[in-house]
Amino acid sequence: MNCSHCNRPAIGVCKFCGRGICKDHIKELPHIITLYIEKDIKKAFVTDKALFCGKCKPVEEPIKIEV
Ligand SMILES: [Zn+2]
Ligand SMILES: [Zn+2]
Repeated sequence: MNCSHCNRPAIGVCKFCGRGICKDHIKELPHIITLYIEKDIKKAFVTDKALFCGKCKPVEEPIKIEV
């Protein structure tokens, strides 16, 4: 897989969208593993430094899916 920015070989994959990222274009962003509600307060487990491509835009709140 190649970097989605420059087409050089990727060293990692964006945690959010799956794009390849090389060492020059790699970014880090907290990644929410799971959300839960405790005593009416929304809490989240996050990994501190997930790989991020810088191109996609992860949303802060979970989106509602109509079924
Ligand atoms: Zn690159
Ligand atoms: Zn991404």
